[in-house]
Amino acid sequence: MHIFAIANQKGGVGKTTTTVNLAAALGQAGQRTLLVDLDPQGNATMGSGIDKRSLTRSVYQLLVGLDSLAAVRVASPTGAFDVLPANRDLAGAEIELVDLELRETRLKTALAAQRADYDFVLIDCPPSLSLLTLNGLCAAHGVIIPMQCEYYALEGLSDLVNTIKKVHANLNRDLKIIGLLRVMFDTRSTLSNQVSAQLEQHFGAKVFKTIVPRNVRLAEAPSYGVPGVLFDKSAKGAVAYLAFAQEMIARVKQWDAEEMNQGGQAT
Ligand code: ADP
Ligand code: MG
Repeated sequence: MHIFAIANQKGGVGKTTTTVNLAAALGQAGQRTLLVDLDPQGNATMGSGIDKRSLTRSVYQLLVGLDSLAAVRVASPTGAFDVLPANRDLAGAEIELVDLELRETRLKTALAAQRADYDFVLIDCPPSLSLLTLNGLCAAHGVIIPMQCEYYALEGLSDLVNTIKKVHANLNRDLKIIGLLRVMFDTRSTLSNQVSAQLEQHFGAKVFKTIVPRNVRLAEAPSYGVPGVLFDKSAKGAVAYLAFAQEMIARVKQWDAEEMNQGGQAT
């Protein structure tokens, strides 16, 4: 099971769109996938076709220890993946968690109990560096950072990178930045292309090859409760997320092979 947090403390940068579409694309490719919605806004829940207002249980119950993962998860009606859904109840968890023991590792523990059920777990983080995001980062093996190639894109990045470093040092030795994903990309913009080239220069292999273009079909899909990659799979945005899923599958295969090799050498 490979666990990835999709994080960026800025709002509106494409975290939820990336999480939902990657989950659906991985599911379509036969990967057993769980989406964890850690944002009280519940956008990933709605975008997966689940009505956040009618939930009897949500990831809130899981984090405060009232319910197990198996009791909280629901299958996305799209059939492609499972969801730990969220709604406004989760905003309360932020406060309640402060007084609970092992408050940063509650999601990690819950996921470990269901390790055999999934190939991929994708965690949609809220736009903050809060205790909820911290739970996401503690549970994850890696962070996927969606970003727009605009003038201020790099500015916010250092806060996130510092947080990830701290979590790595103090709470989760497994955590690393998997990569930066360029989203809402405008190929005709000179600035976008410049920032994109800068990103490649600074971060090298940490920049994903796939670039997700700005594409209105991706923005329309959530109102139908269907991920873009299933809503109109030939649209440019969908094609990009399908390619991104293949890029992730290839990376994970490579890690698994490296791990097997290392295991082989040790014995
Ligand atoms: P976040 O979760 O980081 O707040 P969202 O994924 O909700 O960001 O995206 C913010 C807005 O931008 C949403 O309205 C979404 O539909 C839209 N959006 C995201 N990615 C794209 C894209 N590639 N092309 C067009 N619109 C997009
Ligand atoms: Mg979001």
